[in-house]
This record gives sequence, C-alpha cells and structure tokens, in this order.
Amino acid sequence: MTLPSTARTVIIGGGVIGCSIAYHLAREGRKDIVVLERSKLTSGTTWHAAGLVRRLRPSATLTKLINYSIDLYSELEIETGQATGWTQTGSLTLATNPDRLTNIKRQVSLGRAFGLESEVVDAARAQALWPLIKVDDVIGAVWSPADGRVNPSDVALALSKGAKARGVKFFEDTRVTGMQKKDGSISGVEIGEYLIKAEEVVIASGLWSREVAEMAGAHMPLYACEHFYILTKPLAEVQALGKGVHLPTLNDQDAYLYARDDVEGLLVGSFEPHAKGISTRDLPADFSFDLLDEDWDHFMPMMENALRRIPALETAEVRMLLNGPESFTLDSQFMLGESPEVSGLFLMGGMNSTGIALAGGAGKAMAEWIIAGEPTMELNEADIRRFSPEMNVLGALEARIPEVLGRHYENPYPGRSMDTARGQRRSPIHQGLAAAGARFEVRGGWERAVHFGGDAAHLPLTFAAPKWRGQVGREVDACRNGAAILDQSAFGKIMVQGPDACAFLNRLCAAQMDIVEGRIAYTQILNARGGVESDLTVQRHGPETYLMIVGAGEVVRVMKRMRDTKGDFRVEFADVTSGYAVIGLAGAKARDVLQATSNAPVPDLKRFGFAPVEIGLARGWAGRLSFTGEEGYELYVPADMAMAAHEALVAAGASHAGLFASGSLRIESGFRAFGHELTPGTTPQEAGLGAFCAFGTGFVGEMALIKADPPKHQIVSLLFDDPNAIPIHDEPIYYDGRVVGQISSAAWSYRFGRSAALAMINAPLDLIAGQDVVTGFEVEIACTRYGAKCSLKPAKEAF
Ligand SMILES: Cc1cc2nc3c(=O)[nH]c(=O)nc-3n(C[C@H](O)[C@H](O)[C@H](O)COP(=O)(O)OP(=O)(O)OC[C@H]3O[C@@H](n4cnc5c(N)ncnc54)[C@H](O)[C@@H]3O)c2cc1C
Repeated sequence: MTLPSTARTVIIGGGVIGCSIAYHLAREGRKDIVVLERSKLTSGTTWHAAGLVRRLRPSATLTKLINYSIDLYSELEIETGQATGWTQTGSLTLATNPDRLTNIKRQVSLGRAFGLESEVVDAARAQALWPLIKVDDVIGAVWSPADGRVNPSDVALALSKGAKARGVKFFEDTRVTGMQKKDGSISGVEIGEYLIKAEEVVIASGLWSREVAEMAGAHMPLYACEHFYILTKPLAEVQALGKGVHLPTLNDQDAYLYARDDVEGLLVGSFEPHAKGISTRDLPADFSFDLLDEDWDHFMPMMENALRRIPALETAEVRMLLNGPESFTLDSQFMLGESPEVSGLFLMGGMNSTGIALAGGAGKAMAEWIIAGEPTMELNEADIRRFSPEMNVLGALEARIPEVLGRHYENPYPGRSMDTARGQRRSPIHQGLAAAGARFEVRGGWERAVHFGGDAAHLPLTFAAPKWRGQVGREVDACRNGAAILDQSAFGKIMVQGPDACAFLNRLCAAQMDIVEGRIAYTQILNARGGVESDLTVQRHGPETYLMIVGAGEVVRVMKRMRDTKGDFRVEFADVTSGYAVIGLAGAKARDVLQATSNAPVPDLKRFGFAPVEIGLARGWAGRLSFTGEEGYELYVPADMAMAAHEALVAAGASHAGLFASGSLRIESGFRAFGHELTPGTTPQEAGLGAFCAFGTGFVGEMALIKADPPKHQIVSLLFDDPNAIPIHDEPIYYDGRVVGQISSAAWSYRFGRSAALAMINAPLDLIAGQDVVTGFEVEIACTRYGAKCSLKPAKEAF
C-alpha cells in the first residue's frame, strides 16, 4: 500500500487512542481516513499497560465514557473476531484509616448518582474476596463487582481491525515529521519530504503528543513519568484459586498499590508518592515495544508495602520490574478537542494511566466532535481549552507532573493544593495579598488566595468541618458589613474593537449588547445547541469598543469561539488579561473606604454602571457589581498601578477575603458559576437565566433555545437540616426514594450555620415551581443521607 497524497483525516499515532478514534470515525460513516504510526501499532505505551478498567470515576462524564468502553470491549470480538480480553473480575478497595474509608464511601455514594452499585464491606469479607491479603489494619473496604480488565494490545488491535474493515488505511513505520497550515487551519502532514494534504489532522501520539502539536504551533501540555509494576512467576497461592478463577483488582491506596492476578502469578503496580518524570529527549528516537530501566531503589518502599499486604510475595520469584512511560496532565484529567490555535487540528492525550479504560468512550466522543464540529456530550472537564499556552511551559510541566502521579492515590480533601511549579502566574497584587497572610492555591495556573489565615488556619486537611471555618467566617462578615478586598485579577479580559463590535457581540452573546457607554451587561456565550460555553460581563467603553470580563480559565475557550464566530464582521479582539488587575471591594463600607483613598469623588454609579475612579495614587475604573451578591465594586486597575491601589485600600481600612468566602456568598446568592452550574450541556433556561437572553438578536444558539422543550432539569438552592452534613461536589440528591440530581457547588453558609448548595435536579419540577420551599430532599454523603430543603430562589431569599 502506498501513502496517499491526500486524505480527509490523518490520525497520528497507532496506540489504543488513535485506533479508537479511527474506528469510531469510520463507524460514523467517515471515509478517507489514514492512520500514520511511527513504528508498529501499540508499540508506544499501549502494549505494556496493566489493563485495569474501573467503572466508577469521580465524575459523571468519565464514568459514562468508561461504561461505554466496557460495553464496546465486551462486544468487539463478535464484530471483529479479535478478542479484547474483557473479564469482569470486580475490584476491591481497602481503607486503613478513617479518612480513606470516608473517601471510598463518598465514591460509593457518587456511584449511586450514576446508577452504579458498590458495597461497603468489612475486613473479613475483604479477605474472603482476596484471600491472599492480610487485613489486620483494614477498617473497611468497597467491593465494586462491575469492574474488570482487558488485554490492552488486543483492544487496540480489535479497534484497528474494525476500522480497517470500514476502509481506514493504516501505515506503520511512518513517522510524521512536520505539519503544514494555511490561513490558520491545518492543511497537511509531512513525512520527511512527502506531504499528505488533509482537511483534519488528529494528534493521538501518546507521550510524544506535545512535540507533535508543536510542529503545528499548537499547545498540548502533558509530560511523561516512569510508571512501574512487578510481575511474578506463578504462585501456588494463585494457582490454588483454580483454573480460570480470577482475583478482583485490589486497590490499596494507603500503601500506593494496586494488584491483580496475572498468568497464575501476580501483577503489583504503584502510584508512588515520589514519582520520576521522564523527558521524550531521554528516550531513543526508535523507542518501540521498549521499556525503561528497572529501578529497584525507587520501587523498594512500594515492594515493602506489597510484602506486608500480600505475604505470599515473600516466596514469589519476580519475573520483572516493568517500567514504562505514561503521560500525565497538570490536573490529572485527560484532554481532547480541537486545538484553540489551529483549526482542523484535533488532539487527544495525557491519559493519566487510564487510557485503556477511557479509549472506547473518549475515542467515540472525539470522533463525534470532529464530525459535528463541537462536542456532542458533556466533556468540559477534559476539554483542551481549559489549558492556556502559559500552562504549556516545559519547566512547569517537568516540576509538576511527577507530583500529579505521586498524588494520584491521595485523599481528595477540600483545600488540597499542589506544591510544585508554584508562583508561575501571580496577580498584580500578589505581594500585598501575601503580606496580608494569604493562603494560596493554584487554580488554572494562577496563585489564588483562598483565605487569609495562612497555613495555621488551613492544616490538617479533613473531610469534616475544615480548620479555616472561623477565619472564612470573619472574611464573609467583612464582605457583608465591612470592606473586603477580593482579588479577581485571574479573570480573563478581552478587548473588542471595530465598526462591527456591537453586531459581532450580539451574534456571540445571548444578551443585548447594544448597551449605552458606561454600562455593563451580564451574558452567556452559547453553543449551537443552546448550551452555555461561558458566562461573562461585557463593558461598553465606546461606540466601537467593549471589554469582556470572562471567568478565570475561560479565555482560551472564549477566544476560540470568537475566532470561529468572526466571519466577515469588521472587528478585532485581543486577550489583555495580564494588563489589568480586578480588585473586588465588597461590603457595606466599600464606598466609604474607596472614597477615603482619594480626594477625587467616587462616582455615583447605578448597578451595572462603571466610571473612572482614583484609588490613592492609582487610576482605573470602578464597576458597581459584585461576584458575591453583596454591595460593592469591581475595580479595574492597570497592572503596574495595582499595588498602589491595593496599598491605598488597605491604608483606608479595607480587609481581605479569599475564594472560600466569595464561594460561600456566591452560593447563598444563587449565582451560577461556569464549570459548576453552567456547562456546555446546560441551557440558560435550565440554569434559570433565560431572562438574560435577547431573543431576536440572532445570537448563536438562539434557534436551539426557541425549539427546545421545557427544561427537564433546573438549578436549585439547597439548605441542609443537619450542620454536620459537609457536601463537597457531585453528591447524589434523592426525592421520594430515587436519585433526582447532583450537587454542583457547596459551601458552609455562615448566614444559616449549616451547609448550602446549588444543585441540578430533574424532579419534582412542578412542585418546586409552585412553592417557595420544598422539603423532603435527601443528599447522600459518604453513604449517609442528610435531609435538605430546596428552592428555585437564592438561599438567602428562600430560607
Ligand atoms: C505501567 C503502566 C500501566 C498502565 N496501566 C493501565 C491500566 O491498568 N488501565 C488503563 O486504562 N491504562 C493504563 N495505563 C495507561 C495506558 O497504557 C495509556 O494511557 C494508553 O496506552 C495511551 O495510549 P495512546 O494511544 O495515547 O499512546 P501510545 O500507546 O503511546 O500510542 C501513541 C502512538 O503514537 C506514535 N507516534 C508518536 N509520535 C509519532 C509521530 N511523529 N508519527 C507517527 N506516530 C507517532 C507512537 O509510536 C505510539 O505508538 C498504563 C500505563 C503504564 C505505563
């Protein structure tokens, strides 16, 4: 077979991901697809994966993708004649301390939101399920019968067989060396001197993907780590189980271990706390079906843990310590989507050691995205657009990624933050926040102040009432009754200018953008299905000049949408995020404090108005709006004057508040936040924001909203009855004994002295629409159900 000179779609990489995308594109009817593989199919990371597939994941999206994978893997043999090795063995997850038990019980509850049943069991039952383990320190466990395993290479080969049968052409020993673009869109791939012209290119090149993306000037922030497991020779204890009898997958996260039987012996792998990164520069160019060197010094602490848990290993002969590279991402979530920088270039990778489990579902989602031009399901958490180019700095990846692997098995406590690659992106007033005692967390690459009690008010972390509750309570009080500085400088800022600026924004945004100068509009950007792609405020500075303020971390996705919508509009736009600080000043005394910074009068502003303001030695402009729902301002100050403004505000008596305080106030005020209540799968109507849509302006998504049925889901406010209920995110909500939804944001409400939340529910919608407050809801947290009441109104008005 000779290489074609043109193809509709070129996929770069013949691992499980490339094969799955090819299979699903072909199954959807796409023709003229070519897969180019540098070496042989599966020769990168796929061939040596452990093949474990766990259904239950921390989110609905991931769980849905993996459940589809399992369905597919159990059927592929019938279609292709190639078995995938799918075996339903179940999995057993141990807890040896109370926090771990809480965490695994939280996962059981979460599973119920997705219809997955697991069982909390005691140590004796755990041992009966995995007879080779010692359970003297086990205080509980979770048995998940629906989990299993596959043979990774066979999955990839079955997918490639299915793809070939539908006409996909695979070329092995064919390395892509460059890419070509035309007018910002991908136009072809180079194989040395040879060019294949293509309409779409898909990067599925495993741990090499970052470099392959760079060939096209695109960003794909991922980096590899060495990843280890041992394989033993056959063990009498495993043989004694009987032929064809398998052990469940064992997860002993407190000991950083997982284990399963393997050819009558054992496979014991780890997510060790001090992982080792590995650069592609240190891999030979012809790395193929290769492994990295054994490193017993590194693995020994995990081996000792394994010997304690599985005493039979004492007499086992270790066949090999397998060390293979796998790529991870900054937030331990994989990435997929269309490159925000290069149209027609699609990317999928950074599988964080779940590539085999995810390949089926995620490959299908990617294929549908390529065909439809946008996601066809909720993929927000995996969307490549959450990463900005600033997050693709090699030094930051080298520092952070080993920590990501090292924390894979850590309890996901609220308030947890990474220790590495800190200080990469700092607010213009960072120095002032630090001097005021800020405790920082990294969010979307930025250092964000979460509260001002420092480490002393933060640690130790817990799933119960957090140590910072008192500190945050004082900050909340200042946001209401005093004047508190809330740093919002991480918000994205996009300047829009041109004769068609207003018309363009009316196409892009759902609200009316023809507002008078000096006014601010709150709006959403929607996709063609009417789902929310971003929520933002837009300031009109002149007849042809606007400034958009978008959520922290949303700039990349909004800029991409703006480029896609631009068409013939005579408009230019630029990301000016780094040019300005946004200083929230919240509370009843905000105006007095602002006035005390300067003899220049503070402008009298109506709500959602803005005007120039002087703050001590600094000059900026003030908008009368707040992210918390309390009285106050947002102050927009050039970055180089921001510290002067901060110093003046502090001298005038302003205190500080962090994200935990603003989060609590936001939830009490019922304000929706992107990524929580607002997602690409949620319409403004479902989010209770239909009133912000200016029908008749021809905005993207308008037709879908007009044609839509009445919402089947609604965002509601919840207030818990019991002050001991500590929800975090995603907990299932019950009404009349059945699951009716999940929590989307939760926080301690200082107003009510108990937890409050926002949630998406699908029943009983009529009842809720007809009454101010409906009781009888229950929320399941770590297998305990807590009563709650519910309202369509904001908590602070309803309860
Ligand atoms: C020790 C270990 C255990 C694991 N256990 C599990 C597990 O139990 N469950 C699970 O779900 N996952 C597991 N994984 C993770 C899983 O193996 C990976 O997530 C998955 O294989 C990634 O598939 P991929 O297709 O993205 O990458 P790869 O399999 O590496 O495929 C990428 C392909 O791209 C090719 N390529 C690169 N550059 C070019 C180029 N320029 N031109 C053409 N081709 C190119 C490469 O040759 C390679 O074949 C494990 C990984 C390791 C290392």
